Amino acid sequence: PHLSFRGRRALVTGAGKGIGRAVAVALSKAGARVTALSRTAADLESLARECPGIEPLCLDLADWDATEAAVGAAGPFELLVNNAAVAVLQPFLEVTRAALERSLDVNLRAVLHVSQIVARQMIAQGVPGAIVNVSSQASQRALRDHAVYCSTKSALDMLSKVMAMELGPHKIRVNTVNPTVVMTDMGRINWSDPQKSAAMINRIPLGKFAEVDDVVNSILFLLSDKSAMTTGSSLMVDGGFLVS
Ligand code: NDP
Repeated sequence: PHLSFRGRRALVTGAGKGIGRAVAVALSKAGARVTALSRTAADLESLARECPGIEPLCLDLADWDATEAAVGAAGPFELLVNNAAVAVLQPFLEVTRAALERSLDVNLRAVLHVSQIVARQMIAQGVPGAIVNVSSQASQRALRDHAVYCSTKSALDMLSKVMAMELGPHKIRVNTVNPTVVMTDMGRINWSDPQKSAAMINRIPLGKFAEVDDVVNSILFLLSDKSAMTTGSSLMVDGGFLVS
């Protein structure tokens, strides 16, 4: 039987495009009341047309104060998917301050902040909750030109473990999914070069990149009661890359 999230309230960040958008649609179809947070208004408008009932929340997560106000007012939620991130690939010697700051703000700082706001509301309501942070295979393996991205995702894995430890007594579970390359906009920008993508695929035992649905299914599992005893874990959606 399909997972049901009937009556659950969910916040999905980075829901305008790619994996986050697909998670928002899947949760909505499974009965959740979904708030879709993203940066570009046009994406949220088209999502609301595609999936009436989804509540749009247009916000730049790099803005701490705007996030505090908007996310606080949109809650409470029982389910949170921290999916928004940026991937600015630069050789280590050419990493810019702007890329570093933007990446830390969106990929790490905003996850901590949004999770604080949402977890405080979960605790105040006295309801159990589930948080899934979208990490990457890059959290656990060095990749060329990924100094900043790898670092933010590695920090995200550890943040998730400490959150799991401290939030467990409040019946809030925290896990990550760690996909290999997915051909979303982010994937296309960074992996369209056939030589580069072939080299990566050669290192993946299953011999292919992940589909958006592969990632969505793992996120929904970790949000659902089917994973009721799982917290502080990282679920690889990497075709075996990390064991190869
Ligand atoms: P996309 O770039 O396709 O989509 C990211 C979404 O997040 C967009 O809607 C984007 O909005 C939004 N977003 C980015 N920055 C902000 C911000 N500051 N405030 C609000 N929203 C923001 O990425 P994917 O779907 O590919 O990636 C989703 C997650 O999966 C990320 O955490 C990524 O690191 C991870 N991942 C992706 C892989 C891949 O190969 N694609 C592999 C492994 C992990 P806008 O476009 O308007 O900025």
